[in-house]
Amino acid sequence: MVMAEGTAPTEFERLLAGLGGGRRPLEPAVAGELERIVGPENVFRGAAALTVYARDSWPVAALRVHHGRPLPRPDAVVLPRDTAEVADVVRVLYEAEVPIIPYGGGSGVLGATLAVTGGVIVDLKRLDRVLDINDEGLTVTAEAGILAVDLEKALDRAGLTMGHFPQSFDVATLGGLISTRSSGQFSTKYGNIEDMLLAVEAVLPGGRVIRTKATARASTGPDIKNLFLGAEGTLGIVTEAVCRVHPRPEKREPRAYEVDDFGVGLDVIRRVMRTGLRPAVIRLYDPLESAHSFRSHVSQGRCILVFVFEGLGALVDLEARVVAETCSAAGARDLGPEPGRHWLERRNVISGLPEFMNQGLVVDTLEVAATWDRVFDLHRTMVERMRGVKGIISASAHSSHSYTQGTNLYITFLALAPDLGSAESLYYRIWETAMEACLEAGGTIGHHHGIGLHRARWMPAEHGEALEVLRRLRRALDPKGLMNPGKLFGEVG
Ligand SMILES: Cc1cc2nc3c(=O)[nH]c(=O)nc-3n(C[C@H](O)[C@H](O)[C@H](O)COP(=O)(O)OP(=O)(O)OC[C@H]3O[C@@H](n4cnc5c(N)ncnc54)[C@H](O)[C@@H]3O)c2cc1C
Repeated sequence: MVMAEGTAPTEFERLLAGLGGGRRPLEPAVAGELERIVGPENVFRGAAALTVYARDSWPVAALRVHHGRPLPRPDAVVLPRDTAEVADVVRVLYEAEVPIIPYGGGSGVLGATLAVTGGVIVDLKRLDRVLDINDEGLTVTAEAGILAVDLEKALDRAGLTMGHFPQSFDVATLGGLISTRSSGQFSTKYGNIEDMLLAVEAVLPGGRVIRTKATARASTGPDIKNLFLGAEGTLGIVTEAVCRVHPRPEKREPRAYEVDDFGVGLDVIRRVMRTGLRPAVIRLYDPLESAHSFRSHVSQGRCILVFVFEGLGALVDLEARVVAETCSAAGARDLGPEPGRHWLERRNVISGLPEFMNQGLVVDTLEVAATWDRVFDLHRTMVERMRGVKGIISASAHSSHSYTQGTNLYITFLALAPDLGSAESLYYRIWETAMEACLEAGGTIGHHHGIGLHRARWMPAEHGEALEVLRRLRRALDPKGLMNPGKLFGEVG
């Protein structure tokens, strides 16, 4: 077990111990086979590389690094170049019974790439080609390791866009975005990744390659590609994807309003979504976040609602007019385009707070969702309960992805542990409080970050009996339980 010497095990260490999973060293013969497949220069076994690949962007991994605590390390990292090499790597590892952990950009925030039982990380970033841009059919075919930013640049050169802009745009890969069911900042118009994915090519656990058919729509049984959306590498490795794209928008217009409180803002969004119009961005911030991010635009204690309309000029004008009428009817104050411009400019700027982790600061975000009838109560319950945890400094929220039936809540918390030793437990205490409050208030425990290692323990409460369907599928596809152990289902083997 990975444990700091002479101290009681932390929650993370207990989780690892609970997963069990005997760790077998990587046989030199297997490592040799990997080198033969991808070339020795594309197999890393040195301490520096294994330390870097031991973590993703999960705050607990960052906390442990800041506090000098160990993380489980993979035995090797391989970087295949194409689907054939991925298939050969998977075949060799599966036969040798070595755990296989697919790795994209490592921007996942829930420990989904941690090598909890050792094994080999398969980094897909060399699969980075755009294979086809079809303007007539409005599709793009690309390899799964391409960064979202590079895919979008290629589309932009062709006058197109996928419309998928997660904040991690510069570092996340297409395969990672598919595997975590991600959402981009413009999702209210373009949809989430599941609305964009038309077909996948994937390497199954034993090394077999499958491809699904790209079509406008099909009535041909359950949709096989959907198995890979959110599977987090547990059912295979996505090597290629065909996605829906759109003509680059003709016009973009931001607009913002001030509303009296969060409930009024939620109701405005609900009414706008009912009209059938789809502003690209709708963001409602609670008073704390409004003051933090839009101090010079919004009155103290009020909430800001930011819209971005884009697409065909006439449609943009219509959306802006309908939203203005809806906001006016709700007594909202028109703040003009400036706050929206400010958001567009700063939307990918990340706060430097994690640097203070080595002083006991604990910070993270969590994203949940609910239907309109529950979301107001979900917000109140979660934020109030979280604020009740000893050590918490703030818990605030915004809504950033809306639907006809409901919306998400993106909650940020900041806490200060009395000493470094208790920072990890404080983190877990806040998360437990938040997830329990979410389930109690009828929310869904994850909107777009996925499950990973950290959220797996709430999967039974989230899905109930239905989780058995996924467990059986996993066992059927991966009978040896080697694909990304411990993730999504919280099981090893
Ligand atoms: C600052 C910051 C901002 C973020 N903003 C957003 C946001 O706006 N929206 C959002 O949705 N997320 C966001 N995220 C979370 C993260 O970027 C996403 O979860 C992203 O989808 C992960 O992609 P990745 O390529 O980095 O995957 P990784 O972190 O490398 O992997 C994530 C999971 O996918 C699996 N995986 C990766 N590639 C493949 C593949 N080809 N085949 C099978 N499995 C694979 C891994 O095994 C792992 O389980 C943010 C993260 C950070 C750090």
